[in-house]
Amino acid sequence: MKIADILRDKKFVFSMEIFPPKPDSDISVIYNTLDGLKDLKPDFISITFGAGGGTRTRTVEIAERIENHYKIPCMAHLTCIGATKASITEILNELKAKNIQNIMALRGDLPEGVKNPLKDFKYAADLVKFIKKKWDFCVGVAGYPEKHPQAKDMKRDLKHLKEKVKAGASFITTQLFLNNDHYFNYVKMVREAGITVPVLPGIMTATKLSSIERMTKMCGVEIPERFKTATSTCAIDNPVCDETVKYTVGQINHLIKNGVPGIHLYTMNRVEQNRHIYEESDISKMRQ
Ligand code: FAD
Repeated sequence: MKIADILRDKKFVFSMEIFPPKPDSDISVIYNTLDGLKDLKPDFISITFGAGGGTRTRTVEIAERIENHYKIPCMAHLTCIGATKASITEILNELKAKNIQNIMALRGDLPEGVKNPLKDFKYAADLVKFIKKKWDFCVGVAGYPEKHPQAKDMKRDLKHLKEKVKAGASFITTQLFLNNDHYFNYVKMVREAGITVPVLPGIMTATKLSSIERMTKMCGVEIPERFKTATSTCAIDNPVCDETVKYTVGQINHLIKNGVPGIHLYTMNRVEQNRHIYEESDISKMRQ
């Protein structure tokens, strides 16, 4: 099923993101994760694509399992930086043959200091155009409520977001944020820029404080004072801290109360925490 149709038909869409285990580790670990998450009945599950295509085979294999074994609509992520048109064509044909109908089209990042030797794709918009020319996938793209770290300013970032939508993207999923004001201001600016597609808020489900610090720094995301206060008693490396879970539940409930089109959970492949967040938050109520 296409996500554009789900978003059109449902008032509230619940989705989750997982990532493939490293190529040299046991793939069954992710199937255990999916076994633990599937009965939350997400409207779709997305599976990430390793930078530079490192997890390509696994992304395709897991996408197929989600779509055809678990019977949950799947969105396969695909990055284009450093890729050729031929290699992207091959992956898209593989995904199509496996009945995948949704692609999250991304530029991706090259390792620091590495220059892109290839000219086939420079930005995500190039990938969206390429996909839409030959295939009938439903395409989602990434949005950055606090601006993409490489963008000079929000105005330019929104201009490029609009190019992705004009090229054929049907919806936007945001990068994580811890302060909901950023999401609501962003949606306002997106609409003022003339972009009308749904903007799904991406929420990082509770993880170690040390990981949150690392990720927010990397992505240019603010850690609000109220998050610091709420989690001040958590040990930095405690993998399951009640306070971060509570903060996430509160953040989700506030978003829902203010009419978001859905919630996309960055699950970090954790079963218990995500089940808990689902049940404790208003996501479960929205789906009754
Ligand atoms: P783009 O939309 O191409 O934008 C990148 C930058 O270039 C922005 O600063 C933009 O303003 C600028 N830009 C765009 N067009 C132009 C232009 N014409 N001229 C000048 N500047 C321009 N990474 C992975 O490796 N694998 C994943 O699976 C993955 N999944 C993600 C899912 C989501 C929801 C999000 C938010 C991010 C994800 N990422 C993933 C990270 C993403 O690859 C990085 O954030 C990357 O730096 C940008 O990708 P993009 O698709 O947003 O790029």
